[in-house]
Amino acid sequence: MTFRREQNVWIPESDLEGMSVDTLAVRAGQVRTGELEHSDPIFPTSSFVYGSAAQAAARFGGDEPGNIYSRFTNPTVQAFEGRIAAMEGGERAVATASGMAAILSTCMALLKSGDHVVCSRGVFGTTNVLFQKYMAKFGVETSFVGLTDLEEWAAAVRPETRMLFIETPSNPLCEVADMAALASLAHANDALFVVDNCFCTPVLQRPLEHGADIIIHSATKYLDGQGRCVGGVVVGPSKLMDEVYGFLRSAGPTMSPFNAWVFLKGLETLPIRMRAHCDNAVELALWLEQQPAVEEVFYAGLQSHPQHELAKKQQSGFGGVLSFRLKGGRQEAWSFIDATRMISITANLGDVKTTITHPATTTHGRLSPEDKDAAGITENLVRISVGIEAVEDLKTDLARGFQALQNPSNGNV
Ligand SMILES: *Cc1c(COP(=O)(O)O)cnc(C)c1O
Repeated sequence: MTFRREQNVWIPESDLEGMSVDTLAVRAGQVRTGELEHSDPIFPTSSFVYGSAAQAAARFGGDEPGNIYSRFTNPTVQAFEGRIAAMEGGERAVATASGMAAILSTCMALLKSGDHVVCSRGVFGTTNVLFQKYMAKFGVETSFVGLTDLEEWAAAVRPETRMLFIETPSNPLCEVADMAALASLAHANDALFVVDNCFCTPVLQRPLEHGADIIIHSATKYLDGQGRCVGGVVVGPSKLMDEVYGFLRSAGPTMSPFNAWVFLKGLETLPIRMRAHCDNAVELALWLEQQPAVEEVFYAGLQSHPQHELAKKQQSGFGGVLSFRLKGGRQEAWSFIDATRMISITANLGDVKTTITHPATTTHGRLSPEDKDAAGITENLVRISVGIEAVEDLKTDLARGFQALQNPSNGNV
């Protein structure tokens, strides 16, 4: 990993080699000022001053390392970048204003007009819009294929394909992609393999170890985990990240130092939170499978999941997001959701608080009926991002949903 402010690095890079992700989450990228504060300092300043005109010239010319202006150099942001790069096992990370800014910056830096992208169907809705509406305006065409259908991927690749883009596990159906196979396909065609690792985080899955070139995160989700800030980050080899950083410096979708500080605090508890999310989600998935009103549960931790073995190989846990189909349609799904009292009705995910949503009319509402069909987003589908509350209390709340389906007239009292 690369730290750009050598003088402030508290733990030398060499000492971090081989440390567990649990330790890196707490210790990597740590910055201390001369005050020797124990907690990460925050630098809410737009610019930095120099000891002399000559030093200013040296900084601007790149002859002397150091801060210039917070659009592209801020110690708190760099601490966050150093920590997440260490956790993902990447050389360098570039923090951005949001997850979407991370995807946009990657595309703007590494693609050009005439290039082609192959992307899995059913990625985060706004990612879909970014590729279809905006990247297309700049001459980058995108084809969408089924995440797990390797033949469809191979058939979609063209000589001008420069990027394969996936999320694994997928949202909301928890399909799992074979990363090594997709990496081979990408590299045989001189294309980059980009993985949005938002659902697993480096605690459960490190895509660089499976052949990915670049990792994208929406830090807004599990990295913060407490619903406080919007942010994103790109991780990968320095050669590629220098290009992404160059775009960020010129275009400005930068992470604020305050948000970076919040994410640093979030990362410290990420490993224990992810384990709590996973434990609760496994138990709820098994419980949901036994409910008579449930048609099908989608969670890679279940034996019944078609890519259960692959998920076990690639992930050290199955994550906190699951979905299920209820017997019925939109009315049953909405009644179920409305009958819960504690669980938050919101499309956000990755929070310590459990959230529930109806993908067909929220996160995936902008898809055409055909695209919804292709992505399996049916009207009876409900998605839960399982939080870290006591699982018995989550079952009690979800049982209200099942009661409402049995007794529609008073299910909501
Ligand atoms: C939320 C999300 C994004 C976008 O991130 P923002 O921080 O909201 O811009 C990208 N990918 C996935 C998988 C997400 O869940």
